[in-house]
Amino acid sequence: MAEAISTRTVRRPAARSAKTIAADICVLGAGIAGVSAALEASKLGRTIVIVDGAPTLGGQAIGSIIGTIIGLYTHGPHRYQITHGIADDLISDLTAEGSLNRRVSMTSTITFQYDEVRLCRWIERKIEEAGIHALLGAVLVDVAVDKRRVTHVQFATRFGPVAVEARGWVDASGDASLTYEAGFEVREPDAPVYGSLNFLIEGYDAEAVKELVIKDVHDRLATRGGEYGLVRHDGFLMPFPGKNFMLANVTHLETKLDPLATASMVAEGRRQADSAIRFLKTEFPRIFEHARIRAYGNPGLRQTRWIVGRRQLTLDDIRKGERPPDAAARCAWWVELHDAKDLVHWERFEHDHVYYIPLACMVPREADNIVAAGRSVDADVYALSAIRVMGPCIAMGAAAAHSLDLAGSGSVHKIDLTRLQQRLYDNLDRTD
Ligand SMILES: Cc1cc2nc3c(=O)[nH]c(=O)nc-3n(C[C@H](O)[C@H](O)[C@H](O)COP(=O)(O)OP(=O)(O)OC[C@H]3O[C@@H](n4cnc5c(N)ncnc54)[C@H](O)[C@@H]3O)c2cc1C
Repeated sequence: MAEAISTRTVRRPAARSAKTIAADICVLGAGIAGVSAALEASKLGRTIVIVDGAPTLGGQAIGSIIGTIIGLYTHGPHRYQITHGIADDLISDLTAEGSLNRRVSMTSTITFQYDEVRLCRWIERKIEEAGIHALLGAVLVDVAVDKRRVTHVQFATRFGPVAVEARGWVDASGDASLTYEAGFEVREPDAPVYGSLNFLIEGYDAEAVKELVIKDVHDRLATRGGEYGLVRHDGFLMPFPGKNFMLANVTHLETKLDPLATASMVAEGRRQADSAIRFLKTEFPRIFEHARIRAYGNPGLRQTRWIVGRRQLTLDDIRKGERPPDAAARCAWWVELHDAKDLVHWERFEHDHVYYIPLACMVPREADNIVAAGRSVDADVYALSAIRVMGPCIAMGAAAAHSLDLAGSGSVHKIDLTRLQQRLYDNLDRTD
């Protein structure tokens, strides 16, 4: 018989100090923007810590089962890849193992449907191989600021407080959490921008599904969806060829910046997902008679809160596509604003159209050592709806890493833009 494990009795000390981690750069948020920033910064020889409140890496790309990476290519028959960096390895590694499905859309752009389990492992492996310190399950509680610079940040974990000290900070939180908690100004939309709870369906007829016409589903949602408790009339159902699951993005949820309302999104999102299955089984029985939900994602947040940058990117800017002197990322995705319960507002651009994200939109105007990347950058609601997708998030992550590297202990508002753009050549100028 194994020896019994002995126990000891303890009490929390009255005063306890936080464990401290020091790094050159701290990335808050381990979504695709934060992962891109961390991997790029580590290639520059910096010590990096990446922190997330969730217990795993990957942010919404993994936890919310987003399912498709868009915005990496231009549209049209002469398309080319506009963002490289970690996207190149991600595409080649996941394609080689059969976890990425390359899709050519109606406008001839390329999107990538991914298996989220495999993408998660890819991210974990890359972060580990790069020697990046990942602090997970750690929620930001306090930010210390001295003369426009964040000096250290306090996190709460299940097993006690942790402090991180760093010279430069990437706010890749999606909700501008670092900037907001530091006491700097941020923006919030006055009207709701809807999020969604995505889910995976299994058990559908793999042959019959080849005849699925999404327009028929949309039409039926518009006429009958309400009877099932569904609010949205559009969305996507995307079978993964060769695998037995399908991604469903057909729900719409209000995303309020309130802890209790946010928690209730889980129940509401799952209710809508269950209703969608009832709808599909009844309305399209040949395909969905035996369908069931294999996995519910976490509620996906699109546009919640973002920084006030030195400049705001506008709809007009992205329509015109002029290259600003401080261009830091190049994009081609359309305006995709979820501002109504039933339908998404789209504005599509002509083939080959590209536009740019200036560095000035990524730097909070009141801070010298924060660069935002991903959903937290400064843009009006229309422009943000276009640049928040994963291709631009990857490009912004790379730009954030290089900007902080060039700034060192100086200000991100005063870096050498020529050097920045030389380093970002692939993401700004390559057209192959
Ligand atoms: C339903 C839905 C469908 C979408 N569909 C697509 C699509 O098909 N293709 C596409 O390319 N894009 C799509 N998008 C957009 C895209 O997925 C996201 O905008 C993108 O993943 C955002 O990445 P991010 O790194 O900026 O933020 P996130 O992935 O949101 O990561 C932010 C991270 O920061 C952490 N964090 C935040 N605050 C704190 C805090 N205070 N303390 C600790 N950690 C914190 C969070 O836990 C989170 O992990 C979709 C978005 C949604 C919501």
